[in-house]
Amino acid sequence: MADLLDVKVNDFMAKVIAKNPGETEFHQAVKEVVESIMPFIEENPKFRHGKILERITEPERVILFRVPWIDDKGEIQINKGYRIEMNSAIGPYKGGLRFHPTVNLGILKFLAFEQVFKNSLTTLPMGGGKGGSDFDPKGKSDNEVMRFCQSFMTELSRHIGQDTDVPAGDIGVGGREIGYMFGQYKRIRNEFTGVLTGKGLEWGGSLIRPEATGYGSVYFAEEMLKTRNEKIAGKTAAVSGSGNVAQYTVEKLLTLGAKVLTLSDSSGYIYDAEGITTEKLAWVMDLKNNRRGRIQEYADKYGAKYYEGQRPWSVKCDMAFPSATQNEINAEDADKLCKGGCMVVSEGANMPSTPEAVEVFLKERILYGPGKAANAGGVATSGLEMTQNSMRLPWSREEVDQRLHEIMINIHATCVKYGRESDGYINYVKGANVGGFIKVANAMMAQGVV
Ligand code: NDP
Repeated sequence: MADLLDVKVNDFMAKVIAKNPGETEFHQAVKEVVESIMPFIEENPKFRHGKILERITEPERVILFRVPWIDDKGEIQINKGYRIEMNSAIGPYKGGLRFHPTVNLGILKFLAFEQVFKNSLTTLPMGGGKGGSDFDPKGKSDNEVMRFCQSFMTELSRHIGQDTDVPAGDIGVGGREIGYMFGQYKRIRNEFTGVLTGKGLEWGGSLIRPEATGYGSVYFAEEMLKTRNEKIAGKTAAVSGSGNVAQYTVEKLLTLGAKVLTLSDSSGYIYDAEGITTEKLAWVMDLKNNRRGRIQEYADKYGAKYYEGQRPWSVKCDMAFPSATQNEINAEDADKLCKGGCMVVSEGANMPSTPEAVEVFLKERILYGPGKAANAGGVATSGLEMTQNSMRLPWSREEVDQRLHEIMINIHATCVKYGRESDGYINYVKGANVGGFIKVANAMMAQGVV
């Protein structure tokens, strides 16, 4: 049976690869899902007859556009703009915008595909999408970022809307960029609506949205640890990245009594044997969010060690929170983590572990929470922002945090329900993929061949 399933997965993947040449990250994300789903499809042939796998791997719409803007020297610059509207079976397209020089069609399709399952897991009515640009905000002035965002939104505004497609932030898109894009949308459409999430508090944003992905990833780790009668207090943690997700992961870990040893950026990582404190974290937030500096400066300021060009996975720790980018943990890193005593990995980033790394985690039977479950708190809270916008009524910090916490507990329960293996081990990859798939697949079947 296992061999037959492998053949079916390989046949299916051969078609996906032929149809989407060169999109390696998209192939990787699809394969992981299809491997989990194939046994379920075989048991439920209506999904095979309905060609749900073939349909769910084809975006409903891909929008590609030119983004011209003028830099501070008066020179015209051209970037690529994208929006992938992947699946709207259970709600309007929802997913972030990424501004990073590495952005390409394959990366955004992988992110949009993952988003479909993640959004379904939240239990909120949100379809999946993703977008962005190869624009690099690093080293650009505020004015340049604003002109870029305005040009980007001038085209994107034709395709999105509060009931159609509601983008949010991702790598390189934080409060500043969302503000510039929201302002331009409002100007073009002459309407004040919840067309973007991650907005500022004074103009339609939700409390806890900035914190949500990081907090949610820690709540998810907490639930995973509970299955082994363990808790976060007193444990050491390695965190990668130093952006939005990493910052609030560290904040919640500190609140729950963990000792955080590392942070990183694309240049290298810092190791602080004394542990990152609340004061040091506040300094990092100012460094990254306002001064837009490099993490190396932390080592100079606090006498920590700095490892140029390396990732923090050789550090001995009880818990790992990859919170930077895709494929930042390979098999060797995973091996080092497990040998160093790491018992739980909760992915704040999207697909930070390579398939070979995931294999190591599953073989070692550690608690491994894949991004589409562990980092779903971000989009879930975006969903809560949409609800508050529709009601025109803001909720308190406590109310949003409580709802976020409940959602993460529920996502964990769904993973346990669909991911428990015969030996009792919880395979969260399978749990998240099957749990996320069922609702979308049923909705697609109900809506006919569309
Ligand atoms: P930010 O832009 O705020 O921070 C990204 C961090 O990752 C920075 O420290 C950045 O370093 C580092 N990084 C980015 N690219 C690379 C790379 N190629 N190699 C090494 N380090 C890199 O983004 P977020 O914190 O919002 O996003 C981080 C991850 O979390 C992404 O995978 C994103 O998709 C995921 N995510 C984010 C959500 C959100 O709500 N923001 C929701 C769910 C998932 P540098 O500054 O040097 O580039």
